[in-house]
Amino acid sequence: MIQTSLSTLLSSYLWGLMLLVGLIWLTGEWHRRHRRRLERRHDVICRLCHEIFRDPSSESLITCPNCAALNERRQPREL
Ligand SMILES: [Zn+2]
Repeated sequence: MIQTSLSTLLSSYLWGLMLLVGLIWLTGEWHRRHRRRLERRHDVICRLCHEIFRDPSSESLITCPNCAALNERRQPREL
């Protein structure tokens, strides 16, 4: 039988609980960022009028629906 003190047992339990909560938080954060990246995959920001619009095509030059300027497809920056 393993002998341990009550304080060692409690601190082990608390460390394990904190580790579990941290892992759950990290997994949730990863899922949230991944989902946002997938949602913003087709977003385009116009270089002239800064309109944000969605274009699901895979063309490299996209016409802005607001000002008709041609824009290159780029990944929007994270805010
Ligand atoms: Zn525009």
